[in-house]
Amino acid sequence: MRSQQSSSSNTGGVPTPLAQFNAIRITKPDGGQYGAVLDSLTQADLPDGEVLVRVSHSTMNYKDALAITGKSPVVRKFPMVPGIDFAGVVEESADPRFQPGDAVLLNGWGTGEVSWGGLSQYATTRADWLIRLPAGMSAEQAMSIGTAGYTAMLCVMALQSHGLAPESGPVLVTGANGGVGSIAIALLSRLGFLVTASTGRMEEAPHLQALGASAVMDRHSLSAQGKPLQKENWAGAVDAVGSHTLANVLATMRYGGVVAACGLAQGMDLPASVAPFILRGVSLIGVDSVYAPMSRRQTAWDRLAVELPASVLGSNTRLIGLSEVIPLANDLLAGRVRGRIVVDVNR
Ligand code: NDP
Repeated sequence: MRSQQSSSSNTGGVPTPLAQFNAIRITKPDGGQYGAVLDSLTQADLPDGEVLVRVSHSTMNYKDALAITGKSPVVRKFPMVPGIDFAGVVEESADPRFQPGDAVLLNGWGTGEVSWGGLSQYATTRADWLIRLPAGMSAEQAMSIGTAGYTAMLCVMALQSHGLAPESGPVLVTGANGGVGSIAIALLSRLGFLVTASTGRMEEAPHLQALGASAVMDRHSLSAQGKPLQKENWAGAVDAVGSHTLANVLATMRYGGVVAACGLAQGMDLPASVAPFILRGVSLIGVDSVYAPMSRRQTAWDRLAVELPASVLGSNTRLIGLSEVIPLANDLLAGRVRGRIVVDVNR
C-alpha cells in the first residue's frame, strides 16, 4: 500500500507517518550478533502492506520476550520489529473493508515473527488479519487482554466445545500468574467453574484469589516426573506450562476429563504415558492462537468484550513505555512478571 503522499493530519501530537517514529528493531547481521534496540524509523522503512495502522498499544507476551532476547528462534526474518499483537487506528487503507479512523486490533498470523509487529508507533499489515476493536473496548483494554487473554479464551472455548461445564467438576489452571493463566482463571471462575490455580509464586495467592481462584496450589507438586496415573482431581484444565507439568495434569484428570494445552513455560517436551487417554478417556486438546481461523478469533474477542470485566484487566495489567520493553524481557522469561504487560508505544 505505502502511499506516496503524506497522510495523517489528525494525529493528536503523535508523529505523522512520514516523520520519524519509534520502534523496537531486532537485527542479526551476517556473522554478527543478534540484538534488539529502540530505533527511530521512517515510513520508508516499513514493509509494504494493505493497511497502515497508527499503533497506540502493544504488549509483551512470552513470545515477544523470546524474540527480543533471541533465546528461542521466534524471529525468522531480519531486521524484524517484534510485537505479536497491537491495537490502534487505521491511518491509510488500500482495502475497502477498512477506512482511516477505524479502531482495530491484530494478533498472531506470524506478526512479530515473519512480518513486522506492534512494538512500534506504526505498523503495516494485511487487511485479512485485522479485527475491529469490539464496541466499548479501548485499545489499552484490548491489549490488557492481548494474545495471552485471547488464547485463554480459545482454551475455554475448547473445553466447552468438549462438553465441560461447571457441574463436571473442578478445573486446574497452570502458569497461573502468567498472562494466559491469569485470564483463564478470571474467565472460568466467572462462568461458574471452581478453579484451582497452580503457581510457583504462592505469595501471589491473594491476587489469584481476587481473579477468581477458589484454591491455589504450589506448582512444584506438578513439575517433577510423576506416576502415569494419580488421584483423579480435575474435570478440566488449562495448561500453559507443558513438560512434566502437563504430564502430571493428564495423570490427575478425572474419568472423561479434558485438558486444553497451549504453552511451554516449563518445556516443549511431554514426558507422559497413554494411560490417562486409554484408561480414563481423558482428552488433550491443542490450542493455537497464531493461525486460528478468523471466525474463531471473532467469537473469542466478542466473548472477551462481554465476559471479562474491566476491573480484572486493571488489576492484572502493568503499563510501560517502549523504552522499558527490552530491559523487561529477561524478567518475563524468568517468570518474574505478573499478569499482563501493556506497552503504550507513544510513552
Ligand atoms: P507468561 O510469561 O506471562 O506466564 C508464564 C507463567 O508460567 C509464569 O508466570 C509462571 O507462572 C509459569 N512458569 C514460568 N516458568 C515456569 C517453569 N519453569 N515451570 C512451571 N511454570 C513456569 O507467559 P504467557 O502466559 O503469555 O504464556 C504462557 C505460555 O503459553 C508460553 O509458553 C507461551 O509461549 C504460550 N502461548 C501460546 C500461545 C498459543 O497460541 N498456543 C499463545 C500465547 C501464549 P507462576 O509464577 O504462576 O508459576
